[in-house]
Amino acid sequence: DLYPLRRALLSVSDKTGLLELGKALADRGVELLSTGGSAKALRDAGLTVRDVSDVTGFPEMMDGRVKTLHPKVHGGLLALRDNDAHVAAMEEHEIGGIDLLVVNLYPFEAALARGAEYDEMIENIDIGGPAMIRAAAKNHGFVTTIVDVEDYDALLAELDANDGQTSFGFRQLMAQVAYARTGAYDAAVSNWMADAIGEAAPRRRSFAGQIKQTLRYGENPHQSAAFYTDGTNRPGVATAVQHQGKELSYNNINDTDAAFELVAEFDPAASAAVAIIKHANPCGVAKGATLLEAYEKAFDCDRTSAFGGIVALNQPLDAETAKAIVEIFTEVVIAPGASDEAKEIFAAKKNLRLLTTEGLPNVLDKSNTVRQVAGGFLVQDKDAGFIGMDDLKVVTKKAPTQEQMEDLLFAWKVGKHVKSNAIVYVKDGATVGVGAGQMSRVDSALIAAKKAERMAETIGLEQPLTIGSAVASDAFFPFPDGLMEAAAAGATCVIQPGGSMRDNEVIAAADEAGLAMVFTGMRHFRH
Ligand code: 5GP
Repeated sequence: DLYPLRRALLSVSDKTGLLELGKALADRGVELLSTGGSAKALRDAGLTVRDVSDVTGFPEMMDGRVKTLHPKVHGGLLALRDNDAHVAAMEEHEIGGIDLLVVNLYPFEAALARGAEYDEMIENIDIGGPAMIRAAAKNHGFVTTIVDVEDYDALLAELDANDGQTSFGFRQLMAQVAYARTGAYDAAVSNWMADAIGEAAPRRRSFAGQIKQTLRYGENPHQSAAFYTDGTNRPGVATAVQHQGKELSYNNINDTDAAFELVAEFDPAASAAVAIIKHANPCGVAKGATLLEAYEKAFDCDRTSAFGGIVALNQPLDAETAKAIVEIFTEVVIAPGASDEAKEIFAAKKNLRLLTTEGLPNVLDKSNTVRQVAGGFLVQDKDAGFIGMDDLKVVTKKAPTQEQMEDLLFAWKVGKHVKSNAIVYVKDGATVGVGAGQMSRVDSALIAAKKAERMAETIGLEQPLTIGSAVASDAFFPFPDGLMEAAAAGATCVIQPGGSMRDNEVIAAADEAGLAMVFTGMRHFRH
């Protein structure tokens, strides 16, 4: 299954490592063919290169749109070397075999990341490159395909181990990588177009990413896992810079994402905000005049759960907050920046991972979320639903005060990021009880209240902070029972979507309990 390497075609946009590779191949007696820019780079370095245009008899034309799309190239890549008819066709049409293809594509994803204009994006769609890659990879019985600079060393090692030949196993592996690349490339093009079209974009999308990192394991140690980027370069966990600490685990990445998406709900220009996350649910979220104040308030919601949590900030980490965070064991901190002083404080905690980004995730971004089900994928817009003061409808005799309104909206925003059924109690811009992921809304209301009671004992408060709180429910109360549970915990005002068959009963119960209640007309399921 070994096949010798006599001729190679090198056509790369990213010229990293090209000269070293070209030289290593030439040293091993491989004839080099190349396209315009790549050929020039190789020639400038003193290597002997034959232009593809010389092989095809056609100049590169139409701004490079047509360079390698020619039977002399594709025949050389696709011909089965052990098929008499194919070999006869090669001879008849003077097609030389190409045994190695090295291509990396026009940098479409990089153009996307820098927000290039439409026309520039179009010009960054590589045509000849993917065509050659797909041809060479199909013919991996004979041809080696390399699409990634990272694989140059592996190629040379393979040649050295096999006396200038490649094994079937290597060619097959590289072919598999090659199709992953062309698949991801076209997915990026399609998704960019869908975004450009906007609302009218069809729901037929494809998904693919570029591998960022293989992970030690998945959610559990017996599951293998990897982390992919989607090429959009959006601020978030996938593009964050890690300053210190161990490698992120699968669960860390998932939780850090949940934390950062949540804290991004709060405009950093209006106030500092902190979210502490455990198992993708918040165990404390608060606003504050300073980050430190916000952190302390968030921490006080549920100190027990905050241990080993993930902390997200909506403003750059400062020294005071860093000092408070290192007092307990924290897995990850993510923020849109960090001061040098804060970094120094963290440096003493070797295991604590600090991630910084260029900014906050855009909460209005409606791009796709994907979930896998057996045999398929579920695709939907991200939940970018937003409720402002003007969207609220007071349905009870009592109306919330301005302060209560603010706490209600705060609770509502947090509730969007809590697994359903979500019940969130808030007081003075801080969660004081979070009930997450219960199969009944009554239980979520109860559990959150119980946790608040326990916290009051822990901190030594006279009464739980749910007394006099605002409460949010991510979906309507189907019966008055859940609402009554919240009232029993001391909530005095309520925010919920409304829309239940029994809204009238629920409103009557709220009036009777002296609650002020508003409807949002929108729900935030999160399953
Ligand atoms: P170079 O810098 O060598 O002139 O161009 C290399 C790039 O051209 C590679 O990214 C390769 O994928 C791309 N390429 C090669 N052949 C063709 C072609 O026929 N059409 C287009 N659009 N791109 C090509």
